[in-house]
Formats: sequence, structure tokens, C-alpha cells
Amino acid sequence: AVTSPLLEIGGLGVKYGGLLALDSVSLGVGRGEIVALVGANGAGKSSLLRAIAGVEPCSAEKLTFGQRDLRGVTADRRVASGISLVPEGRALFGSLTVLQNLAAGRYALRRARGFHHVVWRDSAERSAFERRLETVYQLFPVLQERADQLAGTLSGGQQQMVAIGRALMGEPKLLMLDEPSLGLAPQVLIEILRCVERLRDQGLTILLVEQNVSAALSIADRGYVLAGGRVIAEGAGRTLLQDRGLTEAYLGSS
Ligand code: ATP
Repeated sequence: AVTSPLLEIGGLGVKYGGLLALDSVSLGVGRGEIVALVGANGAGKSSLLRAIAGVEPCSAEKLTFGQRDLRGVTADRRVASGISLVPEGRALFGSLTVLQNLAAGRYALRRARGFHHVVWRDSAERSAFERRLETVYQLFPVLQERADQLAGTLSGGQQQMVAIGRALMGEPKLLMLDEPSLGLAPQVLIEILRCVERLRDQGLTILLVEQNVSAALSIADRGYVLAGGRVIAEGAGRTLLQDRGLTEAYLGSS
């Protein structure tokens, strides 16, 4: 059982036309945990993150965040309550600078909170923005060095840092990462995952979807294995990693 759950999901389903992509999924994420969600291509991992973010319609017997029932709550309101998704492929604004991308993460939060004027007119918000930017730069110093560079001209690893930094600008309580390793060299992924561990150590709760199963499970406190839209195993990250039958049957050799 999860101690102090932040996110609780019970009986969640997602359908695309006749295809049941997620079937009665139940899981929990505790405060301050890294939880890894692993499984083969098409298992339903991205669909689950998107359903939690509220950008994919779902049915659920239970979907709570803190004390709040998320069912029927819009994606914007979920952002405002502290849920942030870094999507697969990063979705950066390639022709904007690093700083502009980070600022976009802040606008998203402002909009979700119902403010429509620009950040800079409001001095309290301006200093909150500056403080937040400082914490992102502490985590990823290279982003400060490259603040004025166009995001599209960065390396893959740096782009992933911008995507995570942009999410952090919105002050999430739950950070969801979809395939941060996409297109990255293994060494770069390790660097990114170290930063994810640091965020956990600072108290952030993280739900991580990753094709690189061994890398994900080795930093995760707990993990869930999805296959064919269902949870087929759960446990401590290291326990799942050592289960040869499971890793061979469902997770490939990675
Ligand atoms: P991947 O890592 O390849 O993205 P995944 O585990 O994240 O895999 P999903 O992307 O959630 O899996 O997909 C689950 C199933 O739903 C797959 O069979 C996929 O083809 C299907 N699917 C996903 N999105 C859609 C969509 N928008 N319309 C129709 N089918 C979809």
C-alpha cells in the first residue's frame, strides 16, 4: 500500500473507438516518490499520463489528487492544482529562445489560474517568476548559459532539460515525464535521471514513463508494469528489475 498517496487511480479506462487502450487500471503514487511506469510499445503508458493530465477522456471509478476528485475537472484546472506533463517528443517552441520556453511554462500556470494579462505587469508575480527561474537554473546550469539561444538549436539532452524546466516553472506537485530518453545517448539519459532524483530529493513527486526499463526502475522507488492496457505487476523498482521472467516476457532486454 502507498503511504501518503498524492495520486490515486482506480478502475480507469481509456477507449479509442473500439480499442480499449486502458482497462481497469488501478495505481497509486505516494508523496515524494518516483514511480516508474514501464511496458512494451502500445501498452498504454502515454494514454495513462494523458488521462491523468486531463487531455485524454477516460472513465474512472476513482481519480483523486490530494483530496480532490479530478473526474470532470478540465486540463487547465489540473495544471492549476499542480499536475504537469512533459509530453513525449518534448513539444518545445523551437524558434523561441530557452528563456521564452521557460516563460511559456509560467504563462500556462497563470492562464490556468485565470489570469490573462502578461506576467511582467505584476511585481509579485514577477519576483515569483525570477525565483522559480533561479531554481530551474540551479538544476540545469546550462540553460542559464544558453538562455538566449533558440531551443530548436540545442542538443537533445538540453532540449529535454528545457522541457522539464518549462514544466517546473508551473510549480507542479506531480511531475509526469513521458519518455525523456527519446533520441538521447545513454550517458545523457543518466544525467537527466540524476536531475529527476534530485527533484525527488527536494520533495517533488514524479511519475516516469520510460522505454529504458533498467534505467527507470533503478531510480524508481516503485514501479508498475503495463501490458495490453492492464497493470500486470507492481513492486519496488529493484524487485521488478530482478524479476527475470517479467523483464524477459514483457519488457524486452533493455
Ligand atoms: P508508446 O511508448 O509506443 O507510445 P504506450 O505504452 O505509451 O506506447 P499508448 O501510446 O498509450 O501506449 O497507446 C496505447 C494503445 O492505444 C496503442 O494500441 C495505440 O496504438 C493506441 N492509441 C494511442 N493513441 C491513439 C489515438 N489517438 N487514436 C487511436 N488509437 C490510439
